[in-house]
Amino acid sequence: MINIILFGPPGSGKGTQAVMLKEKYALLHISTGDIFRSEIGNKTVLGMEAKRYMDEGKLVPDEVTINMLVGFVDSNYRAGLHKGIIFDGFPRTIPQAEALDDIMAKRNTPVTKVLSLEVKDELLIQRIMQRGLTSGRVDDSTESTIRKRLEVYYNQTAPLQGYYTLQDKFISLNGEGSIQEVFELLSRQMDLTLA
Ligand code: AMP
Repeated sequence: MINIILFGPPGSGKGTQAVMLKEKYALLHISTGDIFRSEIGNKTVLGMEAKRYMDEGKLVPDEVTINMLVGFVDSNYRAGLHKGIIFDGFPRTIPQAEALDDIMAKRNTPVTKVLSLEVKDELLIQRIMQRGLTSGRVDDSTESTIRKRLEVYYNQTAPLQGYYTLQDKFISLNGEGSIQEVFELLSRQMDLTLA
């Protein structure tokens, strides 16, 4: 089993690449942002709680996010169908990473690698504003919210680089190329990991 965390700031291309990688490598794709958006669409209690944080560019509290993730893995992972999991947008804090280590240890399938897409801020902001024209996402539409999300990323999520470097799992990749170029870089790492 291969369990990959696709890491990087908002706008680095995680969502786009995760969809392509899940097809190529038969992985279960878990995007916590997509799950929250679907809960919001269905007007569930969880969705309404998450929305308060998301619209402001803040992180949903760890306990809520971790419980949701566990539920999603339990009800969607099929051993016969999936060769592993690709996490997109999770973990985003050290407590989430610790919880994920526990969850995966219980399943006897640790995180294999963390593939990080590096993109400079100005390009991230440009990409997210562009996406905001069609995504309908409140958090994509104003520059101040986008900057807030980047600040949250650098304060709360970037420290995970150290966490996974200590586990010898962190790999930095240039995320500034075209979708196809970045996909090739990621695929090369996946193939090396599987070899
Ligand atoms: P994303 O689609 O990954 O950009 O996530 C959109 C928003 O959903 C984030 O700005 C957070 O408000 C929330 N979110 C997604 N994943 C997480 C997570 N792992 N922890 C906390 N909040 C999250």
